[in-house]
Amino acid sequence: WQAPQPLDLKAFIREVPDFPKPGILFYDISTLLRNPEAWQIATARLAQEVLRFRPDSLAGIESRGFLSAAPVAQRLGCGFTMLRKPGKLPGETVSLAYGLEYGTDTLQVQADAVRPGERVVILDDLLATGGTLAASVALLRKVGAEVVGAAVMIELSELGGREKVDIPVASLMTY
Ligand code: AMP
Repeated sequence: WQAPQPLDLKAFIREVPDFPKPGILFYDISTLLRNPEAWQIATARLAQEVLRFRPDSLAGIESRGFLSAAPVAQRLGCGFTMLRKPGKLPGETVSLAYGLEYGTDTLQVQADAVRPGERVVILDDLLATGGTLAASVALLRKVGAEVVGAAVMIELSELGGREKVDIPVASLMTY
């Protein structure tokens, strides 16, 4: 008897040099999303990782984080909160600006997104420098969440993103 080979998810990630800028190697999940079996397996593995953090709800970072978070939330039977670019969410919102290599970016969440102390796990497609994830943690704490972990499909480990946050980070593929 031989254990079945786990599906190699990396085979479904397209690497695009010099996108969106010269010198950047872009890890494209579009090719994974187009393959229903690979996407199902990625979702199942993410769900397995996320479950260990015992979340009450999940938060996804616009926009590719929604593609990881929403199917996992459905699978685990928990709710889902959108962390969005500014100006997209109605009602009272809370914002957080964070520094990028050039300039700043802002994330926004609805003020009533979570109950006080709700255990939230953050999902995104990819962890690079960790700036986006660190801002998401800070933003969710501003609205009263207890952020208990994060999960990404892809981690670029040399950029040290996981050291930017004080929560455990799970990843499916490391480059
Ligand atoms: P960072 O804040 O540096 O960790 O960047 C993470 C965010 O930028 C994620 O939302 C990713 O979708 C995106 N990102 C950064 N670098 C890449 C890359 N090399 N390939 C694809 N997406 C990236």
